[in-house]
Amino acid sequence: MEQVSTSQILASQWQQVRTAIRADIGEASFNSWIKPLQCDGLRGGRLHLSAPTRFMCDWVRSHFGDHLRAAWQGLDAEIDIVDIIVSRPLPRGKNAAPLAPPDSGQPEAAASQPASFGANFDGHDLGSPLDPRYRFDSFVVGKSNELAYAASQRVAEQPDVKFNPLFIHGGVGLGKTHLMHAIAWHIREIDGARKVMYLSAEKFMYHFIRALRERDAMSFKQAFRSVDVLMIDDVQFFSRKDSTQEEFFHTFNALIDQKKQIVLTGDCSPSALDDIEERVRSRLGWGLVADIHQTDFELRLGILESKLRQAGSTQIDRKVLEFLAHRINSNVRELEGALTRLLAYASLVGRPITLELSQEVLQDLLRANDRRITIEDIQKRVAAHYNIRMTDMHSARRARNVARPRQVAMYLSKQLTSRSLPEIGRKFGGRDHTTVMHAVRRIEELRQTEAVLAEDIEMLKRIIES
Ligand code: ADP
Ligand code: MG
Repeated sequence: MEQVSTSQILASQWQQVRTAIRADIGEASFNSWIKPLQCDGLRGGRLHLSAPTRFMCDWVRSHFGDHLRAAWQGLDAEIDIVDIIVSRPLPRGKNAAPLAPPDSGQPEAAASQPASFGANFDGHDLGSPLDPRYRFDSFVVGKSNELAYAASQRVAEQPDVKFNPLFIHGGVGLGKTHLMHAIAWHIREIDGARKVMYLSAEKFMYHFIRALRERDAMSFKQAFRSVDVLMIDDVQFFSRKDSTQEEFFHTFNALIDQKKQIVLTGDCSPSALDDIEERVRSRLGWGLVADIHQTDFELRLGILESKLRQAGSTQIDRKVLEFLAHRINSNVRELEGALTRLLAYASLVGRPITLELSQEVLQDLLRANDRRITIEDIQKRVAAHYNIRMTDMHSARRARNVARPRQVAMYLSKQLTSRSLPEIGRKFGGRDHTTVMHAVRRIEELRQTEAVLAEDIEMLKRIIES
């Protein structure tokens, strides 16, 4: 009896932990790394999880270990160690685990993948679907993105490979993925025989691990090496010391040798990709590196006009568009979001879109865009508040009196800037994005229970925002 209820509690905790982590790390990472884990039991404060391969085990341990522990401690303070080991192989295709949580019923990315890699599977299946809206003709060109746009068009139009690889980099929401899809669409249209494969770096890793798990690395290699154009989005997510990076490098070299086109994107230039091994990094910069800069007013206005035309119906006063272009200057995704929200709101409440309405409906976005707070500002304020040195923000010191303020600074960076987790990690002495994520969660939790910390944070926020 006792036995049963303990394992039920554990199963339900495991489900809660998975749900929390999924919300934090997103569907793709979740499916690649957390979903395949099994919960094997709890003995004396030691929780046992298992992963299907040695590699996966190492990866989960180094990238999500802290996260898993923290999430679990939130539910059961007794747990102080989370052990991740390699599980005994399951029969092919069977994922049933002793404590497998009930199926959440949510559609999962993995479900759309081929059930297994037969030697004859088609390379197209490995790629991700393309967004029909992301075309060249829906991309608005301005000074900040003209090089990336021109290079993308060139690559899409000419079968003879000139720039290899084409590496596009820039901040979040500035159109990298849009351009990638536009290239893929264009090539498919003008030459259906050319095999184009588009996928994210995370998806690449996922497929690779899966191939290893199913002992089918050969067909994985063949599938990737038989494409004519390989496009990998967000390569900053390839992580250090990992065999997927190695595998990517081999694929990359093989394709370059065969004069097949490669297109990559990242959130910074190849030379600044700290998590990527030096020899890989330098090769990434061999072709053409095109960066997308922050948008300027003209471009933002152009994008708004273009989106409005696409949306069809509503007329909006040019004054309102100018206002938006002026005030929402962080990135294109937010700008689009603002316009969508405004159109939806106006149509729901049946009010004309005026300056006043825009201010009212977009209050939070406008405020967020007004304060151009930098991570350095935050680090300085937090360091001063806790009386530590600025260098401690970057250092590897783990002493609590510096580690906690550092976590607070990471938390505030996530809250008060639009920087991505990897970007924040880099500003804190080159830490991994999962470290940042862990810090954010940790502070989030502590705020609930520690009044002093909650006050500190409120005060720091006020100082920083003023
Ligand atoms: P990234 O991959 O760089 O983070 P995305 O390509 O996902 O950014 O772009 C975010 C959103 O902004 C997408 O909906 C995209 O269509 C839109 N967008 C970005 N730049 C432009 C542009 N120059 N013209 C039109 N839409 C754009
Ligand atoms: Mg993108």
